[in-house]
This record gives sequence, C-alpha cells and structure tokens, in this order.
Amino acid sequence: MIRIEEIVEKVGRNHPQADLDILRRAYFFSAREHKGQTRASGEPYLVHPLEVANILAEMRLDEVSVATGLLHDVVEDTLVAPEVIRELFGEEIAHLVDGLTKIAQISNQSREEQQAENVRKMLLAMVDDVRVVLVKLADRLHNMRTLQFLKPEKRRRIAQETLDIFAPIAHRLGIGRMRSELEDLAFQHLHPEEYRELAEQLEKRRPEHEAFLGDITTHIQEKMLEAEVPIIRVEGRVKRLYSIWKKLKRQKIGLDQVYDMIAARVITPNEVRHCYAALGVVHNMWQPVPGRFKDWVAMPRDNLYQSLHTSVIGTKGQPFEVQIRTEEMHRIAEEGVAAHWKYKEGKRGARDDDQAFQWLRSLVEWSQEVKDSRDFLESLKLDLYPKDVYAFTPMGKVMQLPRGATPVDFAYLIHTEVGNKCTGARVNNRIVPLRTAIQNGDVVEIMTSPNSHPSRDWLNFVVTSRARNRVRHWVAEQQRAESIEIGRKLFEKEAGRLQLSAKKLLGDSDGELKRIANDYGYGRVDDLLAAIGYGKIVPRNAIAKFLGPDKFAELDQKKESRLRSSVNAGVQAVRKFIRLGDDSIVVRGVDDLLVARARCCNPVRGEEIIGYVTLGKGVAVHARRCKNVQQLMVNPERIVEVEWAGSSDQAAYAVKLLAITENRTGMIAGLTDAISDMKTGIRDMRATVAPDNRGRIEVTVEVFDVKHLDKVMSNIRKVPGVLDVERLQGAA
Ligand code: MN
Repeated sequence: MIRIEEIVEKVGRNHPQADLDILRRAYFFSAREHKGQTRASGEPYLVHPLEVANILAEMRLDEVSVATGLLHDVVEDTLVAPEVIRELFGEEIAHLVDGLTKIAQISNQSREEQQAENVRKMLLAMVDDVRVVLVKLADRLHNMRTLQFLKPEKRRRIAQETLDIFAPIAHRLGIGRMRSELEDLAFQHLHPEEYRELAEQLEKRRPEHEAFLGDITTHIQEKMLEAEVPIIRVEGRVKRLYSIWKKLKRQKIGLDQVYDMIAARVITPNEVRHCYAALGVVHNMWQPVPGRFKDWVAMPRDNLYQSLHTSVIGTKGQPFEVQIRTEEMHRIAEEGVAAHWKYKEGKRGARDDDQAFQWLRSLVEWSQEVKDSRDFLESLKLDLYPKDVYAFTPMGKVMQLPRGATPVDFAYLIHTEVGNKCTGARVNNRIVPLRTAIQNGDVVEIMTSPNSHPSRDWLNFVVTSRARNRVRHWVAEQQRAESIEIGRKLFEKEAGRLQLSAKKLLGDSDGELKRIANDYGYGRVDDLLAAIGYGKIVPRNAIAKFLGPDKFAELDQKKESRLRSSVNAGVQAVRKFIRLGDDSIVVRGVDDLLVARARCCNPVRGEEIIGYVTLGKGVAVHARRCKNVQQLMVNPERIVEVEWAGSSDQAAYAVKLLAITENRTGMIAGLTDAISDMKTGIRDMRATVAPDNRGRIEVTVEVFDVKHLDKVMSNIRKVPGVLDVERLQGAA
C-alpha cells in the first residue's frame, strides 16, 4: 500500500508553496471514516482514496485536488455531512467533494437515464472547476486497474462505460496518458480473448521491436548532433494494444501492415524552429512516405495537441513513424488540461484554457437542450470522440471533415464542380467505394470525369450539409431541366398537330407566351414548360389560351391529315465556365471563369500574371516570367488579362527553393533558423551533397506573396555558408 508521506512528498516537489498539512489531515480523516470498510479485492477501503490521490499527485496537480482525491468517497459512502468537510478543509475542497458526490448520486431512474444524468452533471461540474473531472477520472482509473475483482457482468458494464465516456473525456481534455491506460484496460475486460492473443503476439516481437527502436533512436541522435540541431532526447514507442486492435479491425489488415506500430519521438528544446530543423534531418536520413506528413504544430488539434508526424521508410524497407515536438508540447500531449491547469496558478493566464474549453461549453449548452436521455447519450458519444477527421489532398492540403465523411463529402469540400464530376476515389492510393468513411490522416484523391454527374444514391451516405445540399440541388435542377425538355417536346407536338410553328411560338417568350405563363402563375416561359413536363398543365389548354377559344376551335377541327413538322428545337448547350479553387485570381471583365494557377510556374500573389484560355479547362494563369508564356503568345487571341483579387484571405503559397551551400555541418539548422525567424512555414526540406561537394538543400516554404518570398530568399542568402539560392520552377 502506498504511504501518504510518498504522496505528500510528490506534491511538495511540484508545488513548493503548497499547504502539505492539509494532505495529512485529509488522510487521517479519510482513514477514520472508511475504517472497517473493505473493497471487492478484500483490501481495506482506504487503499482506494490513497491510490486516487497518488494518481493525481503523479499528474502534478495541486494539494487541493490531491486532498479531494483522499476525501472523494467520504460523503458518498460514509455518514459525513458536507458541512463537516467545509469546516475542516475549507470552501474549495468542500466544493470539489460536493461536485463529485453529486455526480455519483443515484436516483431511482433507469440505468440509461442515470448514466445520462451523471454525464450531464459531470459536464456542468467540469465547466465549474475542471479539477472535479480530473479527480473523477483518477477515481475511474483506479477502479479500472482493480476491475478483475468484480463479477464479469459488472466488469463489462464499467469497461464499456469507460470506453464510451471516460476515455473520450480524457482525450478531449488532452490527457493522452490516462486515455491510453483507460482504453487498454477497457479493451482487456471487454474482449479478453483478443486482448490476450494480441498481447502475446506483441510480446513475441518485443526483442525485435526493441532492437529496431534502439537502432533508430541512436541513429537519429547521431545525425542531429552532426547537423547541429539541438534535441533533448529521442524516445521510442510501440503502439498501444487498443489502438493496434482498432486499426486491425477497421482496415482488416495484419499486424505487419500497421505502418505506425513503431515510432521514434524526438523531443526538442522549447522552440518551434527546432522541430522543423529536426524534421529536415529526419527526411534526409530516410525516405519519407508521401502524404503521411502531418503538421499539428502549425495547426494544433482542438485538444491542443501539437506535434509533427511523418512516416519514413527504414533502411531495410520497414516503415515507421517519427514524431517531433518540443518538451512543452510533449508535456501537454501527456497531461493535457492538467498541465495547463497547473499554470493557471501563476505564469499563464486563463486564455489557453478558454480555448481548450470552447468545445466543452458548447457541449454543456447543448446537453441542457436535449431532453431524451437515449438521444443525449447517443449524440454525446459522437461528440466526445473527436468530431473531425483531417484528411489530405494529394498535394498535401489539409481538409477538415466531420466524422463519417466520405470521398463525396471531400470532393464537394474542394469544389462543387469536383463533387458534381466525381466518379471515384483513391484513399491512400487504393480505389475505394464512394461511401467509404474517411479516416484521420488519409490521403484522398478524387477522380472526376467531365461527363459524370451526381447520383441520387449519394444522399444515402453523405454527411456534410454542403454535399447534401449540392446533390439535392443538382437532382432538383436535373429534374427541372428534364421537365422543361419534356414540356417543350409536348408543346411542340401539340403545336405541330395544329400546324403551328412551335419555333415561332416559343420564340415569342417576351410576348404572348410569357403572358400565358403569367396567367398560370409562372414568371417565365420555362416555368410553364416545366409545368407541362411535370404534367400539371395540358399543352392543348396552354395553346388554346394562346390562340383564344375561337381560333383554337377552328384549327382543332382540321387536326387530322396534317403533316407533322419535324421541329428540331436544337437546344443550344450553354457552356459556362465555373470558377475553380483559385478565388484569389479574377479575370478582368468576366465572371464565373474557371481559373487555375499554372503548375509550370506556380505564380505567387503579387507577381505579374497573364491568363491563357485553354481548351476545355478554363483559364490557366501563368507568371509573366514563365518560359511557357513566350510560346503561348503565338495565340494572342487566347490571352486574357487577369489580376490578383483584392481579397484579404491570407492564403499561403508553397514555393520550392534550392539553396546551394558549402558542405559543412549546421547548414540545415542555419537555414531553418533564417526561415522561421520570419514566421514562415516550412513544408518540406531535403538535402544532398552534389558531386562538386556542394550542398544542395531543397526547401518548400509557405509564403503569402512575392514580397514575402523575396524577403525569405534574401534572409537565406545571408546565412553563412549559403552560396546561392534560387526559386525552382513548378508547383511544390
Ligand atoms: Mn472512488
């Protein structure tokens, strides 16, 4: 049994100013109140509050949280009145204990309602003081660690609840370490057979994994030293059982195909530029797997997780993951909100917490609106799991999608026309059905064909309202277009029967026919035709209105024996270019033109540009400096004037630069410093040594405009050892 003095010592180490005596008092009080009680394991009950307190001390929480851990069950399980706690331990602790007791209180409701109620209370308590939930999570963790002493039925129920509610809450609060342990324990009790099998398989490979990890970590350390990129340490990790199991289940693959089974974790000093410098070194050591690079540093997850992830191919061909983050990011990845909370005491304001709790607040607001407990629990499960998945275009652009989104949703997110012309999709280079749910980190490539169009079936699986609306709109448009066409044919047929020129009639859309459309309550002739097509209006009646009753009767008499004029309406297809993607460029004097930045020269905002009308692909926008422009001038009639739109969006353009340097150590670090000094993103970096013993460093930077680019280049030129830097042609 852990001793209270060990706990006191831990808290004292992390909080030198803390009132440690309150911990000893809480301990004695708890010991007295729980005296004689035992746990299912047969141990004295006191073990439980002590262990809970220890977990909290390990999380480096303050003495108030740890004392609450010691006292968390006294009001609930013994006869102590809340006022007693207040008198003995003060307002703050009493408040926390009260919050915990309220969560635990069981009324005579169904199990489902109880659970829903408890979760609601927990959410409210969390907003009030996040420490309530931290203590509750520590409580659950210790209960999970000792679950084997309970009956199988109860064990399963608690494990399921842990997986459904507690592990996701830990995740949303960013407490990675606790989430992992909760999930693995729950997995062990929910699927004991599969757990044992997988654990055995992994155990068998352990020597191999350890040797491999040892190799790569040593190797990374050496190379970082050589490149003069400062790092604190390199760790190795093997993926956790539960997440391996989930992956095997979901992707129906074997253990050998889990590419991120093994990961090296590089921890750098607390400056972001070191992360990118380290990434450059890693990509230089091993071939990166395209599309697997994820920059959670520039774009933190909403639980504040930050890290660079990349997958590389080892020298023997086996892929593995490398995660790079600063010491501070690492701590937040492990401790999440607990790490933040600690800072609240002094150094840091509450602003970070505010951001972290944004989702929590909206969750609470919403939880009060939903009345039905089943509905509430179901949507809560959805909401507790990360709401969004991040997927990538083949060009590496990050797309944020809701859970369950499919390639069709992805396509519509890129652009309506991409969605409308979507015929299929490749996910991670494999062709998949369009209804496949996209997973985090997937690289999604949409295949399109100009003759393709949306299918009504898509409505059965798309999840974004954007995709749903566009498909519905298309279906409705399509129906309307068909109806107009049918209406027109019916009208022509009737006109032909009466030996009237349909062409003439229809051409009269400003006059008589329009009046008749209005008579029927329609604004336009097309609406009238659509109504005929839908079968709402009989064409004969429409024509009768047009001619007037007498004239119509006269013609109607002679209806037989008439030649049918073969009218070819020849509907002229109206070609309309649609603007695609590059909203930042406008074609002077024209709307709705499809424009795309040419890949050969990859123009950046601010550069002089010209547009060239291509055959069927809209306007390609080239930089005036582009080599291809000379040749395009052969067809001056297809050159159009374009300009950068005055939009304020700060879209970044990826530009590939080549630096020629002396072959000396520290070049990569020097370069990353020069670039990140200007708050410029680095997307990729690779270095080689040319036969002339010159270093060639290719770096892809993200710039907002051409001025920004010039500054970056001149900064790089100033780095000692850099001989020259040039912009490479082509898209990065
Ligand atoms: Mn407890």
